Amino acid sequence: MSVLTTTNIDHYCVFGNPIHHSKSPLIHAMFAEQTGQVIDYQTRLAPLDGFVETVRMFIAEGGRGANVTVPFKLEAFTLANQLSQRAQMAGAVNTLSFVDGKIIADNTDGIGLVRDITQNAATPLRGKRVLLLGAGGAARGALLPLLQEQPALLTIANRTLSKAQELQNVAQALSFADVVAKSWQQLDEASKQSFDVIINATSASLQSEVPPIPAHVFASTSLAYDMMYGDTVTSFNRYAQQCGAKTRDGLGMLIEQAAEAFFIWRGVRPDTTRVLAHFRTKGSV
Ligand code: NDP
Repeated sequence: MSVLTTTNIDHYCVFGNPIHHSKSPLIHAMFAEQTGQVIDYQTRLAPLDGFVETVRMFIAEGGRGANVTVPFKLEAFTLANQLSQRAQMAGAVNTLSFVDGKIIADNTDGIGLVRDITQNAATPLRGKRVLLLGAGGAARGALLPLLQEQPALLTIANRTLSKAQELQNVAQALSFADVVAKSWQQLDEASKQSFDVIINATSASLQSEVPPIPAHVFASTSLAYDMMYGDTVTSFNRYAQQCGAKTRDGLGMLIEQAAEAFFIWRGVRPDTTRVLAHFRTKGSV
């Protein structure tokens, strides 16, 4: 009998490199306790050139599912036998289920973002003007869930304009018309347009940088959302606050994407507000 199946506990993990910093084991332990589910969830460091072997080993040990984080989300996409529409749109995968010898893959990052904005921050997106900054994996993952909320307009701005245009094309192929791609310079146009929700899906905050976007995109009623989170206010959110906007970081997105993965695996939806409140109090994610 394999290592993991010697107990009655279902085993899950998160693959990444590095991975020691991950809060996912604690988040899932809280979900499990809350819902009465008996699971074990650990971190698994995969070598940079050994992701597939590490996943296969976990499956062979009896693992039931896994999350995938940096830098393996694209490799997980190619490894999957079956992809959800969200994963197909994102071109990346963060949630794997191992069922009947198959690897079934999903991407819960985008729905996690949308739930945090619409439910936790009580900010509806329907009929709103939304500005999405960035066109990397996180922005791509957010595209479909954002459009399904039916905003009046979605503008995607990115340092490399062609990548924003690629996302625009993906959206238009799905008959979402009101999607516009812009460069940073094109945001600074004469109309001085502001947005209801501005989402930073660039990785600029990781280097304490801010995308060079004009102050007029923020109004006093705008919600500025930085997907990044940390112990202190991110550089993007500091700038947005200086421009008068309300701000929120990506901690809620992290917890909501985990909740969606938990739901996929266990069929039960945990109460994320309690978990989010716990981490906000600890201030340690
Ligand atoms: P990618 O590497 O796939 O994409 C990076 C994006 O940021 C690209 O659009 C890139 O532009 C842009 N960019 C990078 N550096 C700068 C800079 N200095 N100024 C302006 N733009 C820049 O990263 P991801 O999409 O995976 O991640 C983006 C962010 O989202 C990260 O901060 C990550 O931590 C966060 N995230 C948070 C999650 C959560 O649960 N809260 C989940 C997933 C991601 P270009 O195309 O021109 O290179």
